[in-house]
Amino acid sequence: MLRNIFLALCIAAPAAAQAASTTLTLPAEAPLPTPRPHARLVHAGTTLPADEAACRRDLKRLQVAFAPASPVKAPGACSLPHPLKVTALSPHIAVAPAAIINCQTARAAAILLQTTGQKAALEHLGAPISRIRNASGYVCRTRNGQKRLSEHAYGNALDISRFTLSDGRRIAVKSYGKSPERKFLKTIQAKACGIFKTVLGPGSDADHADHFHLDMRQRSNGSTWCK
Ligand SMILES: [Zn+2]
Repeated sequence: MLRNIFLALCIAAPAAAQAASTTLTLPAEAPLPTPRPHARLVHAGTTLPADEAACRRDLKRLQVAFAPASPVKAPGACSLPHPLKVTALSPHIAVAPAAIINCQTARAAAILLQTTGQKAALEHLGAPISRIRNASGYVCRTRNGQKRLSEHAYGNALDISRFTLSDGRRIAVKSYGKSPERKFLKTIQAKACGIFKTVLGPGSDADHADHFHLDMRQRSNGSTWCK
């Protein structure tokens, strides 16, 4: 019964979702690399791919607050067929402003912060995280100083520039001298590697001195890039 209702909704949805989708115009100088498999799935409202549906079930289990956002259509690159608008990574960790990211990025962020993040906050700072500052989710752009598209152009990356604790303290992501703040941030940066495929932050390079860049870029050999 429920399945039939779901199927009926899926069949009825394309026209509405098509109307709601966003067409994105690339700047003339932006490179157009070969789209990734998911970027070719420019569709609106059809039944979700199995891995996407499974990922969203994981988000619900993790109590992530999210809603589907309008698909982004673009010629070749920068398409985002299944963006989510994420407003919290748990009932206790808000995301401000809301992040437009794909499901796997949201799931990794929730796993990282619900476990390692909260443990590190309590151990080093004496209070849990209540909010993260989203510095960037989806954006169609190249990597700094390079022609290759950033993982942000696939909704596959999240930048975090600040943590707010339940007692109101704000911990900016930056370099600290020997301090509990440094231990807190270094713990998260270290443990993020593996949950995320790319982890950059203070100490990595000048571009990441004031935020964590976390992404899910798939490399051919499955390796990670963490500095
Ligand atoms: Zn980034």
